[in-house]
Amino acid sequence: MTTNRKKLVSIIVPCFNEEENLLPLYQNIVDVLDDEMNYEFILVDDGSQDGTLSLLKQMSINDSRVKYLSFSRNFGHQNAIKAGIDFAQGDCSITLDADLQHPPKLIPQLLQLWKQGYEVVYTTRDDSDANGFLKKLTSRLFYVFINKLSSTYIHQGSADFRLLDRKVMNELQKVTENYLFIRGLVAWMGFKQTSVSYQPNERFKGKSKYSFYKMARFAIIGITSFSIKPLRMSLYLGLVIALLSFIYGLYAVFVTLFTDKALVGWGSIIASILFIGGIQLVMLGVVGEYLGKLFIENKRRPNYIIREQNMTE
Ligand code: UDP
Ligand code: MG
Repeated sequence: MTTNRKKLVSIIVPCFNEEENLLPLYQNIVDVLDDEMNYEFILVDDGSQDGTLSLLKQMSINDSRVKYLSFSRNFGHQNAIKAGIDFAQGDCSITLDADLQHPPKLIPQLLQLWKQGYEVVYTTRDDSDANGFLKKLTSRLFYVFINKLSSTYIHQGSADFRLLDRKVMNELQKVTENYLFIRGLVAWMGFKQTSVSYQPNERFKGKSKYSFYKMARFAIIGITSFSIKPLRMSLYLGLVIALLSFIYGLYAVFVTLFTDKALVGWGSIIASILFIGGIQLVMLGVVGEYLGKLFIENKRRPNYIIREQNMTE
């Protein structure tokens, strides 16, 4: 059943204030593409405030393979990738960041693996030098933590630079959760997966759009999307603390009955009250986190709103 139709590859790039990076990125990608397949670019403007959108318009006039979606406001990186996948026409898609941190020269390698039959080709960052110490450390901790908590294994340093076969894209299109953690979803979906490791480049121009706070939020979204173990933690902590206080109670009875010492120390009382209070607040926060997510998810609002688009040939 050989058809002569060339396969179409959709290259999806989320762009938030990336006007300085888009042309170099485009050039870098075009340089590595061959004639064996057809390509479309889906550039998703995630509510940029700089000249990103007008540049995208210009690019789509110059090259009919370039298509764009433009959001009504900033909806975030994960939603921008989701939109790209929702609109892509390709037999497979490749998502990569606009800032050239994900080296386009890897694209032929990803496609090669796809041709060998892999349905997901994800990439893992070889964290040697491009990222700062703090980012490296927090990222390591995050993967250790999430893999301890959740039953879906997510590779250390997985990036949103990946190839997905049409089958996987179709499944992702069905996902409508608001708190997206695509690398987790892709790991969770299964299919025939393989990975390629890469050396990240420095961000080409501009600053990272992920502040420490946003990274932390993203980490919490990742964990709460794939595990409910934190909810159970209060049960275990409660049991441990109850056991300890029971033992201490026995000790107090023993001291009162069988010795002539008196138990003193309001310091230890205050410390234990604060300890319990602190744990209760943390656990309430954990419950609140899940409850809040449930509340938002329950509204079933769309993941993004498109103000303008040019998805025609
Ligand atoms: N991005 C986006 N919306 C956002 C934040 C980022 O579309 O709200 C895009 C950004 O333009 C880039 C990619 O997501 O293409 C990764 O962002 P960034 O490089 O700032 O993150 P980092 O590499 O520092 O984790
Ligand atoms: Mg980056």
